[in-house]
Amino acid sequence: MDVPNPPKPTAIYNLDILEPVARDCDCACQEVCYPREAREMYQLNYALKYKCNDFIIEPIDDQFCAVITQNTNTFGVFDRSVIAFLKAFRSGATFWEASRSIVDKFGKEDACQLFDDFVYNFLLIPEPYRKPSIEKDLSSITVWLHISNQCNIACSYCYLDKDKRHMSADTGRQIIKRVFQTAQHNDCRMIKFKYAGGEPLLNFALIQELHQLAVSFSQMTGINIDEVVLTNGINLTKDKIEYIKNNGLNLMISLDGIEQFNDIHRHNINNKGTFPSIIKNIERTLAYGVLPQISITLSSLNAKGLPNVIAWVLERKLPFNLNFYRTSQFSRLQANHEDELFIFSILESFEVIKNFFPLDYSFLSIIDRSNLSFPHLYPCGVGYNYLVFDTEGNLSSCHMEINNYIAGTADEGDLLELLRKNNKIGNFSVELIEECNACRWKYWCASGCPVNKYNSEDKYDVKSPYCHVYKSVYPELIKLEGLRLLNLF
Ligand code: SF4
Ligand code: SF4
Repeated sequence: MDVPNPPKPTAIYNLDILEPVARDCDCACQEVCYPREAREMYQLNYALKYKCNDFIIEPIDDQFCAVITQNTNTFGVFDRSVIAFLKAFRSGATFWEASRSIVDKFGKEDACQLFDDFVYNFLLIPEPYRKPSIEKDLSSITVWLHISNQCNIACSYCYLDKDKRHMSADTGRQIIKRVFQTAQHNDCRMIKFKYAGGEPLLNFALIQELHQLAVSFSQMTGINIDEVVLTNGINLTKDKIEYIKNNGLNLMISLDGIEQFNDIHRHNINNKGTFPSIIKNIERTLAYGVLPQISITLSSLNAKGLPNVIAWVLERKLPFNLNFYRTSQFSRLQANHEDELFIFSILESFEVIKNFFPLDYSFLSIIDRSNLSFPHLYPCGVGYNYLVFDTEGNLSSCHMEINNYIAGTADEGDLLELLRKNNKIGNFSVELIEECNACRWKYWCASGCPVNKYNSEDKYDVKSPYCHVYKSVYPELIKLEGLRLLNLF
């Protein structure tokens, strides 16, 4: 006998409290999120009036909409009748005033449960309608360790003035020690180390030594660590992969496209493409059970190849993130700024992602410098919790400004104090940027990379040169996430 399909529910909802998706990125992580303690301020009271919090609604299809709060990390997929119930609180209403139609439709018990969930997840705010505020979180430090200023390839967009210098063991040890002292002094709970360059695998013995040292300091101080090796993947031998796996290091490999779409950016000094070596080594890491994150840099030269590389990455179930090309002093890339090409390629890639549903991980943090999984005021930690050390141990505010160091090894004291005193990069809160202030995406975009803004516009307090791209793809990204959740139900 045929088993009939279950009836499609007339009204369902799924609320997801987003854990900030802590994907590694190729620069300073965003560290700002709303205070979770705010939850205690919100009490459930059926006699109180409630109003809608700030949220964005994007229709997914005829029946369902995705809803995301702008100042907290709630993401929901709702039937349209549930949306109507939510909107009934727009001008302020009690549960009893707003719930007549929903009680008729679903019964009192389900309506009460829905209301409870709305209040608990900040979709509704009780009188006196004080909305959650977003605050800078200074409980972690991100550290860029420039393990080598040498590289075994010659990417056209590289921002470094490369030479053969490696960081010495002595310099590395001093840095690790001072970083932990600084973290203790500032009550930090987490340090994220990025072993980077140049090509850090050219000085792999130092990564091993600094990792062991960081682990022992972590055990002594109780400060958690998170470590990632940022590599071009060319020099990933079996021994290195095994070390990375056995010691719990994360791995990020750059791959900008399939074949010529990668090689147009990433080639050796004789213009020979790196694609075959990179994919061979990614497959090798997978064979050893290591899942690297793929970092894809997008310019007008390789954007058309984006859907194919994303398909390749998802076939292997790899996490990935997109970086938009940033201009810099040493870059040789002859790329134009082509917003429409970026938008077209990214939206095509979203169609590719849908072919891989159901997927049990979120895509809300894949777009360059944005993270829709939690609100933030600053695009990165430059100037307050991002420490960049060159091979000599000098301190800079950003790896793209590694030649303009702001403190030398002779400058003693707390590293965060030195950073905050000497930083010259204008990393403003998005709330202070006039062009961004009324933007509904501001707490996810936070106005974009400060160095890129300065290199393009000679100013820091302006919107990102990629503003139009962000605004065009964010609504589609929210729909994509909603569709992903619907496919998981
Ligand atoms: S750069 Fe554009 S998208 Fe980003 S916050 Fe500013 S106005 Fe909004
Ligand atoms: S200024 Fe730009 S490149 Fe530097 S850490 Fe911030 S986002 Fe990254």
